[in-house]
Amino acid sequence: MTEALFREDAYRAETEAIVLMSEPRGVALDRTVFYPQGGGQSGDRGTLMLEDGTAIPIVNTAYDSDRTTILHVPAEGVALPRPGARVIARIGWDLRLKRMRAHTALHLLSVVLPYPVTGGSVGDAEGRLDFDSGEAVLDKAEVERRLNELIALDRAVTHRWIADAELEANPGLIKTMSVKPPMGTGRVRLIAIEGLDLQPCGGTHVKRTGEIGHASVTGIEKKGKLNRRVRIALGAA
Ligand SMILES: [Zn+2]
Repeated sequence: MTEALFREDAYRAETEAIVLMSEPRGVALDRTVFYPQGGGQSGDRGTLMLEDGTAIPIVNTAYDSDRTTILHVPAEGVALPRPGARVIARIGWDLRLKRMRAHTALHLLSVVLPYPVTGGSVGDAEGRLDFDSGEAVLDKAEVERRLNELIALDRAVTHRWIADAELEANPGLIKTMSVKPPMGTGRVRLIAIEGLDLQPCGGTHVKRTGEIGHASVTGIEKKGKLNRRVRIALGAA
């Protein structure tokens, strides 16, 4: 099992850690700042620094089949650290911050468009959500204007944990249950955007909506009779 430090502090870019397992398919650590791909967000890239100064490039991060061990996928052909070795695990911060901004922007997009979400993807300073928007007509310019209004409010983004049972007893706590929250570990992580949004989410987010910067709606596509795919792209931070 890997302690997932990014769940409490998404701004932490590095940590000391101990190698638990080391295979070409992945290096498992006792703790990490690397986000494993999931929830529509890609796995982090970065490096594992050994005590002798060797840097092992990590090209992706994923959960192992047990869903509690996080695997740091090394670049092909590199020498692997031995189990028990001490490393410094460091993510590629510029890329992660772009994903944190895009991810938080998608939460706000779901506030602007309060329809069931049927899919989504977080890219690098861009992303998309699919909405079951029914007969509603979505106006690109209007969605973009309202999205940027919410960003400019510079609201705080915080998280808290609740028990699975509490969530099940209070389905009204969650605005949309269409994307099934990650349950089964006994607790669920809720992401709150002050006064605007509350939903279960395991991803990484910025601390204030103002950090997202300007967002453009780059496309609204038909994905079926009642389904629309809305794409956004962010400017430079
Ligand atoms: Zn999220």
